[in-house]
Amino acid sequence: MRDGEPHRLKPLPPSLWAATAAETFAGETFDGEATTEVAIVGGGFCGLSAALHLAKAGVATTLLEANAIGWGASGRNGGQVISCFKDDPETLISRRGPDLGERMSALGASAGDLVASLIAHYGIRCDFRRDGWVLGMHGPAMRQALEERTRQWQARQLPVRMLDTTEAATLLGTGTYEGAYLDPRGGALNPLSFARGLARAAGEEGARIHAQSPVLSIVRNGSRWRVDTPGGTVRADKVLVVTGAYSGALRPELERSVLPVQSIQIATRPLPEALRASILPRGSVVSDTRRLLHYFRFDAAGRFVFGGRGSLWGDTIAPAHVKSIAKAMAATFPQLSGEGIDYTWAGNVDITADRRLRVHELAPGLVAVLGLNGRGVALAPAIGRAVATALTQDTLAQLPLPVTDVRPVPFHGLRLPAMALVAEWYRLRDRLETGAMNKIGAAR
Ligand SMILES: Cc1cc2nc3c(=O)[nH]c(=O)nc-3n(C[C@H](O)[C@H](O)[C@H](O)COP(=O)(O)OP(=O)(O)OC[C@H]3O[C@@H](n4cnc5c(N)ncnc54)[C@H](O)[C@@H]3O)c2cc1C
Repeated sequence: MRDGEPHRLKPLPPSLWAATAAETFAGETFDGEATTEVAIVGGGFCGLSAALHLAKAGVATTLLEANAIGWGASGRNGGQVISCFKDDPETLISRRGPDLGERMSALGASAGDLVASLIAHYGIRCDFRRDGWVLGMHGPAMRQALEERTRQWQARQLPVRMLDTTEAATLLGTGTYEGAYLDPRGGALNPLSFARGLARAAGEEGARIHAQSPVLSIVRNGSRWRVDTPGGTVRADKVLVVTGAYSGALRPELERSVLPVQSIQIATRPLPEALRASILPRGSVVSDTRRLLHYFRFDAAGRFVFGGRGSLWGDTIAPAHVKSIAKAMAATFPQLSGEGIDYTWAGNVDITADRRLRVHELAPGLVAVLGLNGRGVALAPAIGRAVATALTQDTLAQLPLPVTDVRPVPFHGLRLPAMALVAEWYRLRDRLETGAMNKIGAAR
């Protein structure tokens, strides 16, 4: 929110997940005055998991979400449960040293298990299943990198493996990929239902979870932080800001640290059994190695869900982008040509300049986490838990994540034309790298 501009509460955008979520969670608006040990700003996976784990550890916790719980990326994403950071273990080790590199790798590798255990423990009804995540290789140039990733994770006892062209075609129901990387521990869920279930679970553990409660300012006030909302003030010993791609002007340095990039998804009707059986016959969820990636899966009712990059120029969904995604879906799965689209929705991904996570200590007792870069369904809850532990122990030193200084994206104000150029460059490189089998799938 800019100075003097009233905050407008935004309704939950329509989506497949909103239409089919089994969990509900209203969350009262914050009203009055309260004192808490930790205040959390943002009701997505990261904030909700932090709230749950802090409350479980006996820490008085108040979460403030500007809109509905799961309103941001957490309620709108692809619901693909993918463990591991995008950086392979040896990259993390070379950047962060053997201790932090291995601990960060381990946190990422176990992220899907945390999701599974939270869902089981709190009985979260989010259509969770674990039939594997496949990373489809859009061209032969990707093979070496994926083989290297496989080697590094197998050395750390993960059951990942490479699939050759034939095996990938069988598992995916499309011959458009040159091969693939499989993590059989990956899975699918309804992300909005998962977010609401986490909110309920955090409440059961004793956290106060407020929706429709935008934080207007965070200022130091004596030994505490003063967190102002339109309905009143929370005084907190510590504050965690987890506002992702929706950071706004609350902390301008955070807003300038990320490039919000829209990603759009479309969903068909529940497909007839025979058609359904010809696509992802083992229920895998899939994303691919393109820079402007495609990702797809089925929902619990057999609707096919396909996603790709949207507009750079605002929150509205441009028909041209929807058309392009429907075209890519039909090129990948010709049997879906002519299928109608029942749902279209979009959300923003918090991309950082180097596509890596950011954890900042903005001031003593004021911590921010953002920059999940499109991989947060499993990682954000795991990071939320790790940050909760660090806040409980009163030190970020043991956090299995690097804590860095804020690095705003250079020339952030000029980001839109620059990002449009980069997107065209990426599209060109994706096409050049694309294997012969997949040329049509890469077409706009
Ligand atoms: C379309 C799409 C598809 C994706 N698909 C996948 C996928 O399949 N698998 C995967 O692993 N990852 C995926 N991701 C990424 C994943 O969704 C995110 O990494 C994750 O949800 C980030 O969670 P978060 O808690 O950091 O942020 P968010 O969920 O964005 O939450 C931030 C919240 O902060 C709130 N907020 C902002 N300002 C304020 C304020 N001043 N006061 C109070 N609250 C405020 C916002 O309203 C918002 O609800 C996808 C993302 C998108 C957009």
